[in-house]
Amino acid sequence: MKNYNKIGFSEPFKAASHVSSTRAADQSQTKPTSVEYQQILDKLKAEFDEKWRNKGGPSTSDVNDFERFRTLGTGSFGRVVLTKHKSTGRFYAMKILEKNRIMKLKQLEHTLYEKNILMSLNFPFVVCMEFCFKDNSYLYFVMPFVNGGEMFTHLRRKHKFEENLSRFYAAQVVLSLEYLHHLDLIYRDLKPENILIDCEGYLKITDFGFCKLVKGRTWTLCGTPEYLAPEIILSKGYGKTADWWSFGVLVYEMSAGYPPFYAQDPMKIYEKIVSGKYRFAPHFSTELKDFLRNMLQVDLSRRYGNLRGGIHDIRSHRWFKDINWLNIYNRKVEAPFKPICKNPGDTSNFDVYDEEPLRVASRDMFAKEFEEF
Ligand code: AMP
Repeated sequence: MKNYNKIGFSEPFKAASHVSSTRAADQSQTKPTSVEYQQILDKLKAEFDEKWRNKGGPSTSDVNDFERFRTLGTGSFGRVVLTKHKSTGRFYAMKILEKNRIMKLKQLEHTLYEKNILMSLNFPFVVCMEFCFKDNSYLYFVMPFVNGGEMFTHLRRKHKFEENLSRFYAAQVVLSLEYLHHLDLIYRDLKPENILIDCEGYLKITDFGFCKLVKGRTWTLCGTPEYLAPEIILSKGYGKTADWWSFGVLVYEMSAGYPPFYAQDPMKIYEKIVSGKYRFAPHFSTELKDFLRNMLQVDLSRRYGNLRGGIHDIRSHRWFKDINWLNIYNRKVEAPFKPICKNPGDTSNFDVYDEEPLRVASRDMFAKEFEEF
């Protein structure tokens, strides 16, 4: 089983609903662990809001500034290629999107939205974009190359992670979701394929194709079947709590090596998710089982992250009792596992893909539509 399939496309350009969220959800960011960390988050939000207002800032650089090597991964609209910035010698992952394909799949506004998000984000465990530009046929998103590969690859190789490693990764995902939610962003596609590991063993969340700015609830059916929250499947309208459900699925999958709700047929997966019935792997600790019971809660009024204590309930759960959150944020904790990375441009942690040359048209395709890119 290679990567799970995504479903749907996000519709970030559809006006966000301003239906007010539940009382519990409104308080989801209260009770920070420390005033110091709350100040960090507030500063990051001000920075994001400023960049977002400016649509992520101007496009920079051009394709000739980069030497291209091999493909690292593929997505719906193109591929991601390893490149080297000629003047600095730094390695980057260049996401190359075909304008033609974007237009055919009616994803123009969605793509512009993803660019603005990527250009505006800045967090230690989130991939951010350093350059973006376009030519006659393609759009280019350029992000620092994370050379340790996808969490997915390491999880399949190791079959499952020791709880200590799951916890180390989970702590970084908690901080990342807290950051995104503080910016009013819902991520909506958490899964091991979208999490990269750097050479120091720390995470970078990638692929913001489904991420959406929402102050309240949204209704779009999108995500990956195994990771969908019950409220998304039931078309009830959902908010940030859907990310906390997916986080529960991720913690389960990291620790067990397989997801909690699984079947060949997506409809069967949905039935299992909505029923909320799953079994713990026999080796799960008591603390982990208790933590998962609180995360994989179909009843929103009982799901951690959505209660009066907000994220504090998650951070202070006893499964995380040995985690020093500020030290994690500052990358001061030694990672329990470091991928083998021989050099900054080492691609041995990535699958091999067929290569295709770029075919740049002689005239500017869809110049008007992509004017603001
Ligand atoms: P995406 O379209 O963003 O999901 O990217 C497709 C694949 O390209 C990912 O699953 C990764 O394997 C790879 N990739 C994306 N961004 C990076 C990056 N910054 N560094 C290394 N690989 C990346």
